[in-house]
Amino acid sequence: MLFIKAKSFCLIGAIFLFSSNSFANFEVSQSVLDEINSFKLKKPIFRTKSESEDLLNTVFEKIQDSAIEVCKEHVKNTDRCKWELIIESNNQFNAYASEDNKITFYTGLVRGVYYEEELAFVVAHEIAHHIGNHIAEAKTKTVFGAVIGAIITGSTGIPTGNIILSGANMGRLSGSKRQELEADALSLEILKKSGYDLEKSRHGIIRLTRIGVSRVNSVFMDSHPSGPERVIWYDQVREYLENE
Ligand SMILES: [Zn+2]
Repeated sequence: MLFIKAKSFCLIGAIFLFSSNSFANFEVSQSVLDEINSFKLKKPIFRTKSESEDLLNTVFEKIQDSAIEVCKEHVKNTDRCKWELIIESNNQFNAYASEDNKITFYTGLVRGVYYEEELAFVVAHEIAHHIGNHIAEAKTKTVFGAVIGAIITGSTGIPTGNIILSGANMGRLSGSKRQELEADALSLEILKKSGYDLEKSRHGIIRLTRIGVSRVNSVFMDSHPSGPERVIWYDQVREYLENE
């Protein structure tokens, strides 16, 4: 069990190392807020129910192989590396991951975006909650801090001398906040492998922030990263992936 978790944190551990200076504080600067507030978002495209279903199915098919690949890198039990897409006719801007590897999308979410890439970011994010085993974690209410510190220093193969992230640092993040950031990081990894344009998908995270939905997952209710924090994180992970 511990081994499976250790594997699933490899990428995340590495990312924290490369971004640890800014991560340590996660300070939201005025320039980040200015960029978010003045960002020119494209007006969402109204899509009929069948257009919404088609687009979701298209996105799901485009990212599926990469998602499976990423999943197999992080997860020992590959039974977890297949997902069921459920589409609900509902005007709310919402999507969530739930038990039995399901990801559910409301048609309202598809109608709320302009680019296919924005939607792809959310689809990969919800899949990533399964790859990260977040549903089970939320149910068992594991305490992460010290455990993760030990796992990263002990078993990821990253030289321990470079470990800046300590269990105590990680412990400052609540479980759900870490889960959201982890899902965003895995989502970007999946999108990049799928050939999606990360500049266009970035419109999605800014849109979520601007409309006040810093997350699109209704399963986890307690302290989540703020929208601006997620934008900062998005940029850090993107830079890491583009330079690796
Ligand atoms: Zn989420």
